[in-house]
Amino acid sequence: METSSPQHDFLIFRSGMTHIYLLPHAGKYLLVDAGMKQHVKEFFSYLLKKNIEPSRITHVLLTHTHYDHTGALSHILELTHSKVLVHKDEADSLAKGYTPAPYGTRLSTKVISFLGRKIFPAYSKYDPVEADLLWEEGSSLPWDHPVRLIHTPGHTEGSISVIWRDRDAFVGDTLFGYEKDDCLPWFANDLNHLAQSWEKLLDTGCETFYPAHGRPVKRELLAHAYQRHFGS
Ligand SMILES: [Zn+2]
Repeated sequence: METSSPQHDFLIFRSGMTHIYLLPHAGKYLLVDAGMKQHVKEFFSYLLKKNIEPSRITHVLLTHTHYDHTGALSHILELTHSKVLVHKDEADSLAKGYTPAPYGTRLSTKVISFLGRKIFPAYSKYDPVEADLLWEEGSSLPWDHPVRLIHTPGHTEGSISVIWRDRDAFVGDTLFGYEKDDCLPWFANDLNHLAQSWEKLLDTGCETFYPAHGRPVKRELLAHAYQRHFGS
C-alpha cells in the first residue's frame, strides 16, 4: 500500500506492517529495508505505477535483519540486482536466514517474544542472503547516495539509522510510531544501548524520525520519551 508524503522527496511504501523507504538520487534509488515477503508483488506494482524501473534501485540497506524487514529481500534482489548493505554484526544472521525474535519491553510483547523464541522460531525465518557490503560505524560508504549512517543498537545489535538531508532519519525499529505520547519500541534486546542510540539520534538534529512501524516521530516526542524512560 502506498502512503503519501507530499512534503518530502522520498517515497514511502507500506509492506504490510513494515514501512520501507525509497530515497532518490540522480535517477537511482536507495531502498531502506525490503519489507515482508507477502507484499513483494504489491511493491513491484507500486514501482510500475511510479514509473520506477526496478534496476534503478542500486542498493538495499537493511536497518536490521528481522524477518519483517528482510522477508521480501531475495525476491527484490532477483528483479533489481541491487547490492545489499547490512551492519557487520548481523551479516551472519542474514546469511542464515534467521534472526531470533527480540525481547519484549512490556508485558504483552514479552509474551510474544517468548512465544517467538521458544515455541515458533520458524516464524522468524526468511530466505538467506549473502550481504555484498558490510558496514560498521566509521567505514566509508560504497555509493554516492547522499545519506549518512549511524549505528543505533538496542533493538538489535546491528541496527542502523539513515540520516537524510540532516532533517529526516529512517530508524528501523529504534523507535515505534504507534503511540501519541511514547515511541519506545515494543521490542528491544538491550535497553542501555537503546538509550545511547536515542541520544545519538537526538544529536543528529533531525526533526522527524521515520520508524518502520507506525507514524513518523517528531523530535519533541523522542526527547520526551527519552526523559520518561532513561532520564535521571
Ligand atoms: Zn525489528
